[in-house]
Amino acid sequence: MHRLYSNNDISVFWDSEKCFHAKRCVTLCPEAFDITRKPWINIDDAPTANVWKAVSECPSGALTITYNHDVTVSFDERGCRSVAHLGDEKIGECDYEETGDGWVIYHTEVDEAYGGQGIAKRLVYAILEQADKRKIKVVATCSYAHKVINA
Ligand code: SF4
Repeated sequence: MHRLYSNNDISVFWDSEKCFHAKRCVTLCPEAFDITRKPWINIDDAPTANVWKAVSECPSGALTITYNHDVTVSFDERGCRSVAHLGDEKIGECDYEETGDGWVIYHTEVDEAYGGQGIAKRLVYAILEQADKRKIKVVATCSYAHKVINA
């Protein structure tokens, strides 16, 4: 299961298959990570510094984090894609097609000027999360998305 949690400043990625429930995150930042709550991650009211420390000390690599750099990422079901915007400008996109076996991500692209900001990963996770919630299998012919899925 892949989940993406965002607030105004940061986005936190969680890959449940890697999590071995060491609870380091829970100890370091209980405001954001609470296994008795659903969803168990809520970064809205937690200090960014505390979330960042908890994520960086996750021993499994299940948690990763990036700053948003004012870029928003949204899921566009009708367009079979996720889209990244900086203000009104579209700066990235990840596309999938629906097949009888599930969704196939075939393209991920972020404008070169915005590379290295974790935007492509946010785009892929936005699709993975929606697929997970619908119990739809996802594979990727896009090499970047394939790497994220199988990291
Ligand atoms: S610290 Fe990492 S491995 Fe441990 S519970 Fe949190 S996400 Fe899972």
